[in-house]
Formats: sequence, C-alpha cells, structure tokens
Amino acid sequence: MTNTATEINSSTGVSEAANPSVTDTDTAATTSPPATITFADFGLDPKIQKAVLEQGYNTPTPIQAQSIPHVLAGSDLMGAAQTGTGKTAAFVLPIIQKILRHASNSASPARHPIRALVLTPTRELAVQVAENAANYSKHTDLRAAVVYGGVDMKEQVGILRNGVEILIATPGRLLDHIGSKVANLSQVEILVLDEADRMLDMGFLPDLQRIIDLIPAQRQTLLFSATFSPEIKKLAQSYLRTPVTVEVARQNAAADTVKQVVHMVSSADKQRAIVKVLEARTRAGLSRQCIIFTNSRLGCAKLSRALERDGIKAGAIHGDKSQGERTLTLDAFKSGAIEALVATDVAARGLDIPDMPCVINHELPYNAEDFIHRIGRTGRAGSKGDAIALVDASEKRLLDDIEKLMKRKLDVKPLPEGVPAQSRPSSSSYGSAPAKMSDPFFYKPYEPSASTASTTDPAKPEEKKVGITPAKPAVGALLGGFKKK
Ligand code: AMP
Repeated sequence: MTNTATEINSSTGVSEAANPSVTDTDTAATTSPPATITFADFGLDPKIQKAVLEQGYNTPTPIQAQSIPHVLAGSDLMGAAQTGTGKTAAFVLPIIQKILRHASNSASPARHPIRALVLTPTRELAVQVAENAANYSKHTDLRAAVVYGGVDMKEQVGILRNGVEILIATPGRLLDHIGSKVANLSQVEILVLDEADRMLDMGFLPDLQRIIDLIPAQRQTLLFSATFSPEIKKLAQSYLRTPVTVEVARQNAAADTVKQVVHMVSSADKQRAIVKVLEARTRAGLSRQCIIFTNSRLGCAKLSRALERDGIKAGAIHGDKSQGERTLTLDAFKSGAIEALVATDVAARGLDIPDMPCVINHELPYNAEDFIHRIGRTGRAGSKGDAIALVDASEKRLLDDIEKLMKRKLDVKPLPEGVPAQSRPSSSSYGSAPAKMSDPFFYKPYEPSASTASTTDPAKPEEKKVGITPAKPAVGALLGGFKKK
C-alpha cells in the first residue's frame, strides 16, 4: 500500500531532498510539491499566519508542505513522520483553519464544544502538542486545553466545563472525563491519532476503540506514526477513509543533521566517560546540555546522582517520578538549571527541546527502534546534533541490530582522554562501508556555521535558533489548559 520515499524517488528519478513523497493509498499516484512553498501558499487565515511568523518559521518542513493542503481539503491522512520533523504544526495549523469558523468570544460553554481531538501516548507529548496549539491559535477565539493522567482531575474538569475547541488528551484520562460526563465528543469534526505506533505499543488499542466509537462517523481522521507497521495499517483500515499517505523520511532513518559516534567503553567506566565527553564539549565551545538515556528506572536515578557527585548539574526523569517532579525537572532542564537530563525511554517521546545539542546513550536500548527515537531528540528541524553511544562489549549484538535497522555502520571513535577504551568486537556483518544517509527530513541539511560553535555558558540556556516559541508557557502552567495571552 505504502511506498517509501526511496522507492518513489528512485522510480521518478527526482532527488529525495526536493521530492518528499505523497501517495494516495488507493491510486498509488505520486505528486510532487512545488519547488518552494511558503506558509502563505496554504491560504491560512491571517491570524494563524501571524502566529506562525511569531514562531520564527520561514519555510514549511516537508511534512507540513505535504500534509497541510490535504488536511485543508478534508482528506483523511496517514503521516509517516517522527517527532522532530514539524509534524505537530502539520496537523494543528490546518485544524485551526478548519474550525476557525466556529470561533466565538461568548463565555457560554455551549459555544465551545470540542471540535478537534488529538490523542497522544504520553503526557509529555500531550503537553507539547497543547503548547503548539495554544501558540498557533493565540490570535483567535479558539480554546486549546490538555488533559492527562497522573495529576488531580479537578482543574481539568473546570477547564472542560468552561468549553474548549481543541482538546489534546492521553486516552485513559480522557475516558475518565467522558465517564464522569465532563467531556463530550459528539461534536468532534477532526480526530488526530499522534504517535499511533507508540499508542499501540503501550496497549491503548481498547481505549482508542472506545473513544473513537464516541466520535461522529462523519469526521476527518489523521494518523501520524513513525512507522507503518501491519498493526498501524490495520488501525488505519478500521478508522480512516481512503486516506492520503504522506511520508517525508525513510522508515527507520535518523535525521541527517545528527552526527553519530560510538565510544567503546566498559560498563564501569561509562560514568567517567560522560564526564569526559562533557569536558570535551566545553573545551570545544559546545553546549553541555544533553539527554542521557538509560534502560532502567533504577539505573537512571543512580546515574543522575552519580553525575551530580561528579559536579554535573543532572536531573532524572523516569516512570517512578510523579508528574510534579517530572514537570519541575523538565522546566529546570529547559531553563538550563540542569545540563544533563538522565532519562528512560518513557521520557523519549514527546520531549520537545529545540536545538537539543547532544544525546548520550549510557547503554543501548534493547529495541533497536528505540535508538532511533532516542537520537530523534537532537538534530531537529534542521539544527545540528551529536548522538553519542557508550557501548561495552556485551552490547555488541544490540549495536549490530541498530546498524542493521539504520542500514549503516556507526563510526567508532576513541574516547576523550582519561577513559580506558575497549576495542569493538569483530562483527559478523553486512556492508562494511559507512553509508551516507540522505534523508529528506528537511529541505536544508545541516551546514556547520560559526554560530553553532560559539562558546556557551552552561548556566545560561543556549540561544535557540530554530522553531522557538519566544515566550513559551512553562510546562507547570499546563496542567489543565491554556489561558489566552
Ligand atoms: P515536531 O516534530 O512537531 O515536534 O516539531 C519539532 C520542532 O520543529 C519544534 O521545535 C517546532 O517548533 C519546530 N518547527 C516546526 N515547524 C517548523 C518550521 N516550519 N520551521 C522551523 N521549525 C519548525
């Protein structure tokens, strides 16, 4: 059903970067976008365009260029795109345009029914999408709010009772609100399933089915997923009508803007290696802000404490932390008060930190696809990022799996001074030459510039360059919804 970008591009002979693919699932017809498309070309309301300009976006990313016209035209859509490609604006902007006709400044809740529902697998992603929705709709009378579990329901109940047109929710908490008759989906016109693959992985299918059954059949449905697995295709067959399929990146590929390096190091020396890596970054005039991934909650907490003992400003974020703790840690990280955010995969999805300079894998994930999601925290929307994997001999098989999935060998580099290196065990192997990736994630691939190598005071957050919300509401302010600025 679905062609990959590579297949389509090789058959048309058009360069990948210039030709992100669009495929109608029924006809398998392929169309090319105009060479340069701007936000003005979409015919969005000036109130939306103003908000987009204020975000500092000049050019739509490929997923935006490809999806927005179809969503505006009313088609169902399957979007293959990872977090970091600009997919949130790809669905939020046309949604705002489509429901803008309902915008009302009346205080009556009856004038503010839920018109668009976005379901996400994690609280973090829900908050992130809601921040975007609030920013893009801030010059309109539409209301956006977010509800998710793990926090008191009271504040969310108040916001839902007042009325909200764009609701972003995690499935379980939404069902709670529906159960207590606080949320009503009978007027929903557009449904978005964001990171649908993750929702299925997390066992949300029964919840999704219950929720979708409550939404009018006459609706538009958009499904975004990093991969189109057979399960995702089945979900789409059940709930989407002749969807257009949009793919902007080769499945399971990492952004071209991410420089990936492997350091072979024994497990006992990994913590020291992180300290050395950060010292080397300081010497090179690079930011020390990084996300460090671990495989277990316990390991995450231990590593964070150990790094703090080594004088690194670290914080941990994992499933055992309360929502309040997570929010505080994330805020501290975003403000620069924490430079190393130690995280498990739970935190991997939905964390949106633009221009994240560095991701460190303290250990490799058991599932190779998680590696792609982890390193997707960096190199977003055209910015440059470093992904460093600390690998010991026992992780060789995991490294092989990752390289197989990415269809490339990762560069093994010597460790920064002062950490004993291990040699890489010989690999069985496939293709020995490191393949150069050229994924059409973005129109503009990373080009090193003087500004990316400027010295950064670790106490201050680095000046953000791409896609920054000038005055983003603090995550702590989002527990229930948004007030118009
Ligand atoms: P997303 O994939 O939606 O999580 O977006 C990743 C990042 O890209 C976010 O920080 C967005 O603010 C940013 N972004 C989205 N669209 C654009 C654009 N057209 N130009 C530059 N940055 C963008």
